Amino acid sequence: MALTPSYFDEGALIGVLTTQPLDRVLDYRAPEGGCHLGAFVEVPLGPRKVLGVVWGPGQGDYELSKIRSVIRVLDAAPMREELMSFLTRAGEYTLTPMPAMLRLATRAPGLGDPPSMRKIYRLGDTTPDRMTDARTRVLEVLRDMGGLSLTLRELAEAAGVTTSVVKGLAKLGAVREEDSPRDTPFPTLDPSYAGKDLTDDQTAASATLRAAVATRIYGTTLLKGVTGSGKTEVYLEAVAECLSQGRQALVLLPEIALTSEFITRVDARFGTKPAEWHSGVTITDRRRVWKMVAQGGAQLVVGARSSLFLPFRDLGLVVVDEEHDTSYKQEDGVLYNARDMAVLRASICGAQVILASATPSLESWANADAGKYAKIELTSRFGAAVMPDMRAIDMRTEDLPGSSWISPTLRRAVQQRLDNSEQALLFINRRGYAPVTICRACGHQIGCDQCDARMVEHRFLKRLVCHQCGETKPLPNVCPHCEAEDKLAAVGPGVERLAEEAQALFPDARLAVLSSDMFGSARAIKAEIETIASGGADLIIGTQLVAKGHNFPLLTLVGVIDADLGLQGSDLRAAERTFQLMRQVAGRAGRADKPGQALMQTYQPEHPVIRAILSGDEQDFWAAEAGERRAAGVPPYGRLAGIILSSTDVQEVFDLGNALARNDGPLRRVGAQVFGPAPAPIARVRGRHRVRLLVKAPKGVALQPALAEWVAPFRLKGELRMAIDIDPQSFY
Ligand code: ADP
Ligand code: ZN
Repeated sequence: MALTPSYFDEGALIGVLTTQPLDRVLDYRAPEGGCHLGAFVEVPLGPRKVLGVVWGPGQGDYELSKIRSVIRVLDAAPMREELMSFLTRAGEYTLTPMPAMLRLATRAPGLGDPPSMRKIYRLGDTTPDRMTDARTRVLEVLRDMGGLSLTLRELAEAAGVTTSVVKGLAKLGAVREEDSPRDTPFPTLDPSYAGKDLTDDQTAASATLRAAVATRIYGTTLLKGVTGSGKTEVYLEAVAECLSQGRQALVLLPEIALTSEFITRVDARFGTKPAEWHSGVTITDRRRVWKMVAQGGAQLVVGARSSLFLPFRDLGLVVVDEEHDTSYKQEDGVLYNARDMAVLRASICGAQVILASATPSLESWANADAGKYAKIELTSRFGAAVMPDMRAIDMRTEDLPGSSWISPTLRRAVQQRLDNSEQALLFINRRGYAPVTICRACGHQIGCDQCDARMVEHRFLKRLVCHQCGETKPLPNVCPHCEAEDKLAAVGPGVERLAEEAQALFPDARLAVLSSDMFGSARAIKAEIETIASGGADLIIGTQLVAKGHNFPLLTLVGVIDADLGLQGSDLRAAERTFQLMRQVAGRAGRADKPGQALMQTYQPEHPVIRAILSGDEQDFWAAEAGERRAAGVPPYGRLAGIILSSTDVQEVFDLGNALARNDGPLRRVGAQVFGPAPAPIARVRGRHRVRLLVKAPKGVALQPALAEWVAPFRLKGELRMAIDIDPQSFY
């Protein structure tokens, strides 16, 4: 096999992958001075200039005289072959065209701009004739800095003066103004800064992980441990080892709201903060992170799933925390699962992966079981903390008036905590005030105009909201169907309505409501979580947001309002999800020295999933669940792919669906079957009609090439769209 050259001389024929939706790499000529393989370049495309990456030698199948030259090579480190091959393989796995993959890896604004500068200030060598208090303070701050410099805003803030005071001093030469590059390396993390004394279990676990990282080759370890067992402490040791090796580490978290608590822990462990990468990071900071990751000026990145596509110089470890979390699956645009892609990237760049969870996904459980992943278990909580006592409240025997959801048994338990100055949490996995708004005169339920979905009342926002498309409208007084006045009624509970009931039952309790839509920013959520953790609330009412890894040391009771909610769907993972969510929520209780209790309201206490949750016998639950999935030939013991077709024209979608189903030769040849077309459970979203097909194949067949061959003959005309979802997680 011919090796790809790593450098192209001026005028050489090169292939450039652009971010434009074209189905091939385009030929260009290398610019003056030549270019490296992987170089970020600007190329002409028709009348435009577009971003691209030098992907290899040119194909030479285009009329040579028409081939144009690269306009310029951008000022960014060339993409490494490791990342190029990761993008290629991830694209093949998810059946995503390469331009879309490249877009994932170039989400840095101003990428390739010349290094931008900013003004910094340090002590000058003259003293002004006329001194004021404000001027004195500025000079004092700079003197205390001992030669270090500050930006205008930092200096003005530290001295408590306006920026014009600093500027005035600069004019007089008392402070010096200099230009300095904005994108500077992140401070160095010190692996030996402040390790904790680990328990015996934790020590053994961290030694195993450190040894794995030291091998510098690929491997994946499932780190399973009950909530509060010290998984984070343990994987931070693996991060320390990775940093000592001079390699970079990445920690993925499922929720931005978790990053600030984690960053505080990194600061405590390594003496300074890591780089952050998620949607809440400003544009300038994103560019700095992107550049520093490529240059090695960022040792540790904490981020959301998209940080997997950063241009690491030498990635040695990826931690996927709460690896079971469904938000790792990206559900629009490129459909990928960050957990699986982390494993893929690590296998290409010789890195270790740690999948951490108290309730691993059945996929990871099965991979560990089959010996593909190593497994480490932490079985007890750190310190005096013990797992909460879990019980069901049988709702069939509770005396509960209509339109209320907190049973007498749960009410007494909450009251007891309040009397003892402990915290209680009521959990309901439903945002908004009420899931349904119905007209008492005609029975009409208010739906979204664009989707086949009911609109959910959000009192906090004073609007009806469609949870499918995000459309909102004011709550009407008049029924849109029969025009009866003041007959619209809320049916069923959401987190806001539960808060209303709780406030009425416990009028003296300080309530905190935690639902993702009630905060404007990740910072606001963080502030609320810190307030709660430090005792600023007595009773917490929350959605799924509270289930994810937060530490509430004073919390001793968790009440689950509707443990049956997740069991109703026809989703293949309904049981698994309910099991994970209930155990995660219950795990919030009793994390410090007081024992916790979890009470679950259920109408079906004898349901096998509810019984498994209560018994705490995970092994039995997983074995049973695995048995059912194996018998049905579904993941992780078989493969699935979802095909979602949509169009504004309902006939058009079904015609295409039927044509696909009829022409299933390429699938049958590999032993795969196709089911459908069927209207999707939510048959219309944003005005587009949706139809699904499901492809099922035995494990181990090369499903993606067969899928590609199957769909290739069908051209999508006009409004038609097709999305292929490999390993689908949701089936809506
Ligand atoms: P997990 O990630 O498994 O939920 P954490 O690592 O967050 O567990 O640990 C739970 C709590 O116990 C944290 O506050 C953590 O700082 C503390 N902790 C765990 N292990 C130790 C230890 N060896 N020494 C001191 N504190 C510890
Ligand atoms: Zn809608």
